[in-house]
Amino acid sequence: MTRPIRVAVTGPNGSIGYAILFRIASGELFGKDRPIELRLLDRNTPESRAKLKGTMMELSDCAFPLLTSMTAYNDEYSLFDGAECVFLIGAQPRKDGMDRSDLLRLNGEIFRKQGKALNDRASRDVRVLVVGNPCNTNALIAMRNAPDLSPECFSAMMRLDQNRAMARVAEKLNVPVGGVEQVFVWGNHSNTMYPDIRFLRYNGRRVDDQFDEAWKESFIKNVATRGGQIIKARGASSAASAASAAIDHMRDWILGSQGKVCTMAVPSDGSYGIPRGLVFGFPCLCPGEGRYQIIRNMPMTPEVNARLATTRDELIAEARAVADLMP
Ligand code: NAD
Repeated sequence: MTRPIRVAVTGPNGSIGYAILFRIASGELFGKDRPIELRLLDRNTPESRAKLKGTMMELSDCAFPLLTSMTAYNDEYSLFDGAECVFLIGAQPRKDGMDRSDLLRLNGEIFRKQGKALNDRASRDVRVLVVGNPCNTNALIAMRNAPDLSPECFSAMMRLDQNRAMARVAEKLNVPVGGVEQVFVWGNHSNTMYPDIRFLRYNGRRVDDQFDEAWKESFIKNVATRGGQIIKARGASSAASAASAAIDHMRDWILGSQGKVCTMAVPSDGSYGIPRGLVFGFPCLCPGEGRYQIIRNMPMTPEVNARLATTRDELIAEARAVADLMP
């Protein structure tokens, strides 16, 4: 058997954490021949520690053959020691009366601390996926506090937005979602994101434009507000679908996307007029071995450029609001 891969997860007691751990441990992320060493960190309170113990009892009871060890930690430095694959899911939810800038600051502190600990202790080839919201700016904060790691070690999750967009397109075309390709999402994981279906293919073929302007406009809004619709319908936020998207993102990043376009929020290389370093959702290709490439030559129109400018400006404002958290 190959050497176990060291996987660290924050927020394992949360809804997404509970949904993702069992999938990672069962081999859905790295395949059925890669053993896994699981390292977990939630809040350091008696209730939280007790809850995590219960989840670990369940993981143990699954008798997953690939799970060679699992450990709960109380601090980030121990958690990230030698970590190769990191899911930063743990974050504080927005509470009543809190605006987006309060949330940015509250969670920014968490990601600053985690960035420093990653910088000191993680593997130099670590791959970090930030899920906790506001995920683009949290990833930016973690990355900037980890100057000894390559910025390409960091990304934020917009794959759920891509998956949602693909599912809506499949519903509209009345086809199975498995054949839907080249749908991706630009920008911030927020209401300003821009889901782009201009290059849509189904089973490798271009799809004739079957979408009128009114449908396209409602589609964009629908994808961007889907999280709120889920909360309204099930009385709880998206958890299993977010966990599934996190697995999709990390698997494609580490093992390769098999030539398929995937959305990743990654530090900009200056493409499409997005300031260097800003963590922005781009169409990417992943050739494997933990690498990604931003697709640089997508044709643009004035309308698409305007959409990108809106979401870019929102991210610039977020970064300014937490500038003091970044060296
Ligand atoms: P949740 O409230 O159920 O769980 C969050 C967990 O994080 C809790 O167990 C909490 O104790 C823990 N936590 C808080 N601070 C921590 C810290 N400093 N270190 C370690 N753990 C900590 O939330 P959830 O539904 O699991 O969602 C987690 C995050 O993911 C939220 O910020 C949510 O908005 C975000 N999210 C992102 C996407 C996306 O597409 N990027 C999609 C869905 C949810």
